[in-house]
Amino acid sequence: MDFKLTEEQELIRRNIREFALKHVEPIAAEIDENSRHPAELFAKLAEGDWMGMPIPQQYGGAGADYLTHIIAVEELSRSCSSTGFTVSIHVGIACMLLLLFGNEEQKKKYLVPMAKGKHLGAFVLTEPGAGTDVMAATTTAVLNGNDYVLNGTKTFISNGPIADTYIVFAWTDKSAGRKGMSCFIVPKGSPGLKPGEHFKKMGLRSSQTSEVVFKDCRIPKENIIGQPGQGMGIAMTGFDHGRVGIAAQCVGILQAALDESVKYSKERVQFGNPIARNQAIAWMIADMATDLAAARFLTYHAAWLKDQKQPFSKEASMAKLFGAEAAMRHTIKAVQIHGGYGYIKGQKVERLMRDAKIPEIYEGTSEAQRMVISGNVLR
Ligand SMILES: Cc1cc2nc3c(=O)[nH]c(=O)nc-3n(C[C@H](O)[C@H](O)[C@H](O)COP(=O)(O)OP(=O)(O)OC[C@H]3O[C@@H](n4cnc5c(N)ncnc54)[C@H](O)[C@@H]3O)c2cc1C
Repeated sequence: MDFKLTEEQELIRRNIREFALKHVEPIAAEIDENSRHPAELFAKLAEGDWMGMPIPQQYGGAGADYLTHIIAVEELSRSCSSTGFTVSIHVGIACMLLLLFGNEEQKKKYLVPMAKGKHLGAFVLTEPGAGTDVMAATTTAVLNGNDYVLNGTKTFISNGPIADTYIVFAWTDKSAGRKGMSCFIVPKGSPGLKPGEHFKKMGLRSSQTSEVVFKDCRIPKENIIGQPGQGMGIAMTGFDHGRVGIAAQCVGILQAALDESVKYSKERVQFGNPIARNQAIAWMIADMATDLAAARFLTYHAAWLKDQKQPFSKEASMAKLFGAEAAMRHTIKAVQIHGGYGYIKGQKVERLMRDAKIPEIYEGTSEAQRMVISGNVLR
């Protein structure tokens, strides 16, 4: 057993940390406050190959392993959770699904510009009446001549207002149950595709989230990914990969909460001593550091299994579940350690606490992760 990262992975971690400190940290509070997508930052991420890290070079990526991508998501999230998440959903789900299930032509046409960071991807599954219960979806895709015609409304779609390439799930044969859903590439500008306005959110505010409406939306029949009826399996594979990314986002949030708490508790003096000297504060920090280590091990292990081509679905859910709940628990404590100052806008811990809530909800709620884990354990 070897817990050491390779020299290359360590080097990449240092590079992305430097990048985050130089380009992400200085704007993180502003893009949160203004709910702004920082296009200029994503152009820099693209230049550095961060938008296609685990995609083979022949398809426009950097050809690194999945763990390297996960380390990048962690380090970006340590400075700005929205930025880490946008990279995670673009690379870990949209690009990975094209890589794993797309044909050669689709990879050349759609994956290459995405992996180079010229086009941004979105994963379009949730509907107003179908969240945890994916089978309750109603969006349809009907073959009409050489086109599929899509009708339906999706909601809570990350990158919804700004994506170039939408990976969309719709029923081609509802009567076939799980085998009746299919997956499609819908490029920006397709007739009948209407991305909605950005929702205002509690946290993760610079990530752009919206409805995406399909009204007689026509796409060439070549835009189906895989075979008709493979959509549900493709969606679940997307979740497996994406959940490791969300777990990494949580590791980044936890690391940032710990960094801020250690610094502040050594500086803040009450009753003539730094507050860190109080056992009540020191134990909060001990628990934070312990859960951070556990979350990181679970996350890297899931990514390592993926790189070893072993099943990692259960481990991805475990890492996401543990990381999400730990991030929520400890960012509340980080605010507590900062007292009244922690409640004021501009303090990093205030943003961390708001950003920590969403990993318990998206890419499957914590309850949904427990369903996946117990389903595997009780099999
Ligand atoms: C900011 C944000 C970004 C998102 N990005 C995307 C995206 O890019 N693409 C996309 O497709 N979706 C996206 N989503 C949707 C997200 O994945 C869903 O919100 C999530 O799956 C939960 O669905 P729901 O909101 O409909 O909640 P519901 O499914 O209605 O759940 C409500 C509550 O009931 C619980 N519950 C439901 N069923 C059960 C059960 N059987 N047993 C126990 N408890 C249960 C849930 O755990 C939850 O606590 C995003 C959501 C948000 C808020």
